[in-house]
Order: sequence, then C-alpha cells, then structure tokens
Amino acid sequence: MCVYFSRSRKVHSVPPLGCAMALSCILQVLARPGCGRALRRLATVPASLAPDFNSFVPRTNTCGELRSAHVGQQVTLYGWIQYQRQGMFLVLRDFQGLTQIIIPQDEAHSHVKKLLSDAPVESVVRVTGIVCPRPPGQENPKMPTGDIEVKVETAEILNSCKKLPFEIKNFVKKSEALRMQYRYLDLRSFQLQYNLRLRSQMVMKMREYLCNLHGFVDVETPTLFKRTPGGAKEFIVPSREVGKFYSLPQSPQQFKQLLMVGGLDRYFQVARCYRDEGSRPDRQPEFTQIDIEMSFVDQAGIQRLIEGLLQYSWPEERGSITTPFPSMTYEEALAGYGTDKPDTRFGMKIVDISDFLRRSDIPFVQNALSYPHGTVKAICIPQGVRYLKNKDLESLKESAKSQFNQEIMEIICRPGGSLKSLLTKFLGEKQQSELSQALNMQVDDVVLLAAGEHKQVCSALGSLRLESAGLLEAAGLVLRDPITFHFLWVVDFPLFLPKEENPTELESAHHPFTAPHPSDANLLYSDPTKVRSQHYDLVLNGNEVGGGSIRIHSAEQQRFVLEKVLKEDSEVLSHLLEALEFGAPPHGGIALGLDRLISLIVDAPSIRDVIAFPKSFRGRDLMGNAPDYVTPEELEPYHIQVSWPLAEEEAKKN
Ligand code: ASP
Repeated sequence: MCVYFSRSRKVHSVPPLGCAMALSCILQVLARPGCGRALRRLATVPASLAPDFNSFVPRTNTCGELRSAHVGQQVTLYGWIQYQRQGMFLVLRDFQGLTQIIIPQDEAHSHVKKLLSDAPVESVVRVTGIVCPRPPGQENPKMPTGDIEVKVETAEILNSCKKLPFEIKNFVKKSEALRMQYRYLDLRSFQLQYNLRLRSQMVMKMREYLCNLHGFVDVETPTLFKRTPGGAKEFIVPSREVGKFYSLPQSPQQFKQLLMVGGLDRYFQVARCYRDEGSRPDRQPEFTQIDIEMSFVDQAGIQRLIEGLLQYSWPEERGSITTPFPSMTYEEALAGYGTDKPDTRFGMKIVDISDFLRRSDIPFVQNALSYPHGTVKAICIPQGVRYLKNKDLESLKESAKSQFNQEIMEIICRPGGSLKSLLTKFLGEKQQSELSQALNMQVDDVVLLAAGEHKQVCSALGSLRLESAGLLEAAGLVLRDPITFHFLWVVDFPLFLPKEENPTELESAHHPFTAPHPSDANLLYSDPTKVRSQHYDLVLNGNEVGGGSIRIHSAEQQRFVLEKVLKEDSEVLSHLLEALEFGAPPHGGIALGLDRLISLIVDAPSIRDVIAFPKSFRGRDLMGNAPDYVTPEELEPYHIQVSWPLAEEEAKKN
C-alpha cells in the first residue's frame, strides 16, 4: 500500500482519484452505458494529474472514495443524508458518491446515535469514524464503496434540512417546473452533477487544445453592445442616455472579426450569447458558444481544427470519434434528407423517381413535372407493414398535409413482390418492377411518395423520414442509437435565401459577414441568389452543433452585400466597414453550441439538463422569478415609462 502526503498534508493510503473519478462514481450509480470503459481509464489516471478534492478542508475523503484499502483508517466525511434506517445506519452522499455509515448502538455513543437518528434526510453532516469491512455477505457490488462502511465515532449536524419539495432520488418523478423552482436541490442529483462535471472537463480540454497546443488567445468581449443587422432578435438594455439602448450580442461575431484586424490572429472564448427568440422548445435566451476565429485560414483549416478539438476533448467514456468527419453539400443534404441538418445514423433517404414516372400517365405526377423544379420523390420505410399501424400511416400523411401542404401517396410491397397502391393501375408491370428496384423495396416495405416543387417535396419527406423513424422506434426498433455519434459537415450553402416573410427580399443564410464561394464571387454582382457561400455547419445526429464561415475581408464587398443585396443600413456597421479598410487580414471562424453539444453527448432529454440555472420554455427563471417588475422610480434614470394597463394584462397571462 503506498502511503503519501497530499497537498493538504493529510495522509492517504491510496491516491485520490481525481475529477474523472467523481464522474466515474456517478457513472456507476447511474449504471450508464460506457461506464465500464470510464472506470478502466480511471484506474490508470496518474496520481500527479488527479485533483485533490480534500485540500483546504478538514475532510479526509469524499463519499465516493473509500475502498477496502482504507480499512482501519480513521476518516472524516462531509455530506448529505441520503437515507437513514431505524437509527442503525445512514447513507451519506456528496458529489462523488455514497458511503454507508454505521451508527453506534452502545451507551457511550448514545448522543451520536440520537443526533444522527433524529436528523432529517438531506441534512448536511460531518462524521468521523473508522473504515471497516462490511460483514461477509453484506457487500454491495452495485456501490463503488460497497465493500466498506464507516463506524461513526463523532458526528455533527452542520445544518438540518426542513421538509423537501421533492426527494433527491433519481427514481422519484417530479415536474420540470418544480425542479427549476428548486434548482439548487435538483443540482444535488447525480445526473445533473454528472452533466455539469462532464461539461466542465470538456471545456477544460478544449482550452488546453486551443491555447496550449495551438496558440489561441482567450479574449472576453463586451456583452453590452449595439444592434446587429439581420439574424435573431436581440435583447435591449436601457441606458441613461435618453432614447439610447444597448443590445446584448447574439454572438461575439463583430468583436472576433475586429480582433483579427487587431492582429490577435487566433481567438477563442467560452462566450455567453443572447437571443430573444420567444418561446421555442429547447432553446435558451442565453446560451454558451465555444467561439473561434483565425486569420489566414480557409474552410478546410477550420474543419480540421474543430475535428482535432472534438477528438481531443471527447469524453473517453463516450467512445471515440473518427476524423475527418464526412461532408455533404447543402443541396445533397436537402435532396437526400430534406433538411440542412441530416441525421445520418439511419437510412430511409429520399430517392428521386421523377425519371421513372415521367413516362407514366399519372395525372398528378405529370402535373407536378410540368412546373419548373417539379419533382417526384419517395422514402422507403423498411418493414413498414409490420411496424406501422394504419393510423400511423394516416397521421404521417396528415402531418405532410398540415405542415407542408403536401399530398402523400403510399405504395406497399406485398409478399411475392407485387406493389399495392392507387398508382399501380397507371403503371405497366415493367415500370412497377423498375420503381420497386429504384426504391430498393423488399416485401412488407412501405413507400411514401410525393410530387410537387423540389424544396417542398424534400422538406415534407425529410420530416416524414424523422417521424417514421420515431414510429418505428416506438414499435421497438433502434434506428437512432443515442450513444453513436455521427458528425457531418454541411457545406456550400447558398449565400442568401429568400426572406420567409417576404420572399422577394433576400437575407443571409448564415450572417452578413460570410464570404461568397470563390468560384461564385462574380455572380454576387449579377445574380446573388445563385451564389454559394463559404459557410459550413457542423451537424451531430441530426442537430446543428456548430456553424461558421470564411468572412468577407474587403470593405467594398462587405458594403455591397449590406447595402445592395440585404438592403440594410450600413451606417450601423460603419466601425466594422472602416476596420476592413485598415489592412484586415483574411479570416474565418466558427462557433460550437456548447449546451446542445453536451446535451447530445450525455443524452439529456433537454439542453436545460446541462445548464446549471436554465430558463423555462417561456424564458423565465422560475427560481428567482426573473424577469421581474421594477418601480417607476427605478426606471426614471433610463427615461422609460411602462404602460401599466398593458403590463397588467401581460402579468395575467403569465
Ligand atoms: N457567430 C456565428 C454564430 O453565432 C458563428 C460564426 O460565424 O463564427 O452562428
């Protein structure tokens, strides 16, 4: 047994196992997939690299740390009472795990017995005692500390806990609103401890990779700034200057570009960003990006950087990821998956069957193909007959109709290979078999077919592809394993898209600072709708987890885009335009959405589960009750008056 002194000069008989160990104990409790690998790795964490959890405090060990090797030692633990049983024993919990504590029954310790037996669950206590082996047969192999127990000598109730609004146990169901109201209690759960600690470790590794290995500089940028044209709605903050407001930046986009003009060369920041997008499920009004910018870089350079960054910081207990990530153009993504963020964990891709049906006499097909961008496409749901009920098929058709105004026709492959569909009467035997081959149909497969305008058909089928996957999964198939990670680059986006609310006007597909694709640069001045951009998105399992671009570094081109294409008032950006005139280097960057990335890695049901203090669906802090009213006197310095009848109406709605 190796005896050594820790930094806090307390004697340990085995090394403290480090932060990773904390995660592993939590993992054991949760019995999550990947746990075994995590533990094997931890066994090899060198003591010199492991943090000392017991420095600067009187405890000798954490509640997840004690093993048979500690038997005979006197230890002092601090933690919360997880269970208390008949005055005989209790289970003490901290961030690292659980330890069983034996309450002495002899007369000499009667005061300790009374103290611990009377203490309510979740009271916070100190116990000092001797580590003992559990009696034979009473070991608990499911508990990392299950071979030992601590026989108490002295104890102290540091703070008693009153009746809780909910129990801090995984299996006890509680509403999310209640969890958010008492977030500080919810944070005690092993799941949230795991999520936040994994997040912290990943960010630490990212810093290491960027700063130590690649010379990036961590720079903080202001959060009180001014309106940026285009993009998401910004929160405004009143100022003492009459009629003037700050805006909270949607991202540090302008600042990071200005840092490149300032010669910082390689910037990164764990940046808070603010977007007032109203109540959108699984969005947060404030969120975090790993924000990156580099000078003299091209698209491939940024992509290799991000692949290296993720590989370096990837939690080992989540398996490994392979690089380079596959890449797909925006057009391919739309045509094959009906979306710019394809989930490539499963097939059921969209197939274009226009050419097979062009020669048919199907009226609605002929009608669709007679229009520009007219097309006929389909997806094939393997074994759909077996796994989907009639009502499922009806609901799929219904949702294509209600969401995309798109009619859907179904084709079923019967035993023997013949097709059943309203279409078959229009098709000869040869055409039917060609169609079946084109769609790679097997017996019991169901095909959903759509005819119409390219983008509408693709979007509708892309959405049906995901809905069908959900239905197949509900019937017991596994299509989208949450612990397989499929990264994908989506590239060659259009530089501009028609505005949703007014399709005759254009808006940036990414943001107005994105450079045109070098091969399309001339089209910018003749037909901007045809220009592809140097914008790239990173997609993970069908979710956008990052996006960036090579930037425009010519003031003249930037002014043209703002004024002539986007019809924006370039005055708002005069500082940036001016900066581009003073020897701005070519540059590009990217931002990773940290909350979303971590939530996918830990397979959390919502991004709120990886944020310590998230806002509710409606953007409220249910714990502190923000936003809140302020008095007219407090508003006075800002020259703001609230129209109270309106405010009261709002208050009633909330
Ligand atoms: N600022 C951009 C965003 O928030 C990312 C970038 O272009 O680097 O999406």
